[in-house]
Amino acid sequence: MFDKSTWIKLPRNVLQGHGVLDDLADAVAELYLSGNPLLVTSPTPERIAGDRIRAQFDGISSVSLDRASFESVERVVEIAREKDVGYLIALGGGKPIDVAKMASDHLDCGFVSVPTAASHDGIVSGRSSIPEGDTRHSVAADPPLAVVADTELLAEAPWELTTAGCADIISNYTAVKDWELAHRLKNVEYSEYAGALSQMTAEMLVGSADSIKPGLEESAWIVTKALVSSGVAMSIAGSSRPASGAEHLFSHQLDRIAPGSALHGHQVGVGSILTEYFHSGARGEWMDIRDALSTMGAPTTADELGIDDETVIEALTTAHEIRDRYTILGDGVSEDAAIEAATITGVI
Ligand SMILES: [Zn+2]
Repeated sequence: MFDKSTWIKLPRNVLQGHGVLDDLADAVAELYLSGNPLLVTSPTPERIAGDRIRAQFDGISSVSLDRASFESVERVVEIAREKDVGYLIALGGGKPIDVAKMASDHLDCGFVSVPTAASHDGIVSGRSSIPEGDTRHSVAADPPLAVVADTELLAEAPWELTTAGCADIISNYTAVKDWELAHRLKNVEYSEYAGALSQMTAEMLVGSADSIKPGLEESAWIVTKALVSSGVAMSIAGSSRPASGAEHLFSHQLDRIAPGSALHGHQVGVGSILTEYFHSGARGEWMDIRDALSTMGAPTTADELGIDDETVIEALTTAHEIRDRYTILGDGVSEDAAIEAATITGVI
């Protein structure tokens, strides 16, 4: 009997381009949402674009958050209930989007993503990650109903945020390899379509490396397009597998051991060099990953991440403990093997 079924949740409207922030209300009108919006943001994006958004909606309320935390999520939920809002608009880099995503899941309402930095694929995906103590809580929520990515704003973001977004996309290479491996060894469900889309996204980004330069608005365009496409791959897969493998476990472990040292994308980029080495050996494709990262100005060493060698080795040898996700790290790499991989690849 044929009994397979699948549910793919995608953003309904994706607007990308110069000045599209002023089309936010049109993009929202097409979603046929009811009620007033609550703008969820943080101080810097509020200053840059808060008024431009409020000018487009009657009856909009706003909340500006200092950090991503469970208290922030609760605060948003509380204000949303108090004001009886119909949906959330998340404006900012990662934090307001993560908070709004989680809050909208609690409230059972939709949210619209208005990224001000192309720094990671969370701006389009359904994954939300909130720090709690020395760990991070990653939850599966619905993706945004719409994404409005204004390249004029995104190009003004600090350059390192864009290179972090690039590195997050480049890590798709190893994420897909880990997913295929888990499929072969552990019978984890694999979507050929999502895997191919995720890999192609990384290839296209690497192919455009020459157009990814500071001060070039086209860079924001290329990276955002890749982040959207990576988010679509995750939606098709119904999991973060197409864009998150051992290199993400490594980064999550760095977040625990050395919180706040480097950007998520930069950590997974370096993680990708290391896990690619485990996948294909000394003469394998890790050099391609390293070269792509360095061409785009993303870190390729522990030093450039601002993390010491011992911490990198500790993260690499313990990353498999983070969650029940089978990857090339299997049930753990030995310290000797970790040191050898990190040394040969020049990470330490
Ligand atoms: Zn990521």
